[in-house]
Amino acid sequence: MPQEPTAAAVKERYQAACDLGLDLDMTRGKPCAEQLDLSHDLLAASEGAGYLSQAGADCRNYGILEGLPEARELFGGLLGIPPTQILLGDNASLSLMYDVLSEAVRQGVPGSPRPWGEESRPKILCPAPGYDRHFTVCEFLGLEMIPIEIDENGPDTAAIARLVASDPTVKGIFCVPRYSNPTGATYSDEVVTQLAAMETTAPDFRILWDDAYAFHHLYPDPQPLRSILDECARAGHPDRAFVFASTSKVTFPGAGISMVASSVSGFEWLSEFRSKKTIGPDKLNQLRHVRFLRDGVGLEAHMARHAEIIRPKFELVDQVLCEELGNRGVASWSQPRGGYFISLDTAQGCAKEAVAKAAAAGVKLTPAGATFPYGKDPLDRNIRIAPTFPTLPELRQATEVLALSILLVSFEKGVL
Ligand code: PLP
Repeated sequence: MPQEPTAAAVKERYQAACDLGLDLDMTRGKPCAEQLDLSHDLLAASEGAGYLSQAGADCRNYGILEGLPEARELFGGLLGIPPTQILLGDNASLSLMYDVLSEAVRQGVPGSPRPWGEESRPKILCPAPGYDRHFTVCEFLGLEMIPIEIDENGPDTAAIARLVASDPTVKGIFCVPRYSNPTGATYSDEVVTQLAAMETTAPDFRILWDDAYAFHHLYPDPQPLRSILDECARAGHPDRAFVFASTSKVTFPGAGISMVASSVSGFEWLSEFRSKKTIGPDKLNQLRHVRFLRDGVGLEAHMARHAEIIRPKFELVDQVLCEELGNRGVASWSQPRGGYFISLDTAQGCAKEAVAKAAAAGVKLTPAGATFPYGKDPLDRNIRIAPTFPTLPELRQATEVLALSILLVSFEKGVL
């Protein structure tokens, strides 16, 4: 049995790490350059793709608000959604989420008795730990956030059902149903069905279904996700869900395609306000994406190449955490099967200081608390690790520094 390190030994190693003058940034889940290079041919595809759509439309010009039919067809097939219910945007599905919520606040969604912004305190349920940018959008738009616990099957549906059944100002829920940011959880069939079927006092309750990691499997045995649109239709709430996805981490975050889908009437509502905002999306980019990705087989092969690059990074983080923290009772962490993050929980009250100590040693992480609404982790224990961007040697160093920081804080707080 290796000897458990003492506080003095951990301090010494931490000090030695500080002396290295590291400057590592693991704050955001970004693809690394090698991943971006996988889509380099997308740029070359511009040439071959030309500028005429299959139907002969000149993609250089204005128009085709909802997106090119062949691109909607491609993503419809990939997501199991009728193409006619998919609207394509430019890069950043986050901006489509922002648009949907800001329109809900300004004018309401179909079935709203009044705009959400005219409710005394409109509320959104936020499974947490969750995606910080969802929380930023809600806060910015004046939507009060209620955190909901999440486990490996998804959010606590009993707590959600209680809240939506008793309060008509609870207007929606933000979900990352597949390889959730940051826990990696994929919602179980039961959770999906319950979310679709539950009775809500708000007649205009909406599920914002952010399927950002729809294609982002690390292993070749992806866990299927039940279709929220189908479940909502089956439960008699056909308009309840808006589904979002993008190619940000398929091709380029800075030059991908985003999409939003809903029921037939939800799609009409989306198209109506979008027609005020733009005269049409970047169809040349859609054209080259269709040419580059081709079909489900093409996309799967492409995503397998991403997985080959990033799976060793996830596994390295897990290995280092096991070596440094395993069986010590100071932290637990997720072992995701896809997505972009590892979620780590320290002992209660240790995360902020651990992140600060890592920063002092030159390793920047997402601020502790950021994974909760208003930046407030009530137990101060969640840390989001984003392993994709650094190189393997950098990642090893950064994870060791994080682990040493957690050990140090655990000693200081008497957890160890
Ligand atoms: N949704 C989730 C859950 C994410 O983790 C991210 C990026 O990290 C996004 C959305 C951003 O997507 P997009 O680049 O399409 O705006």
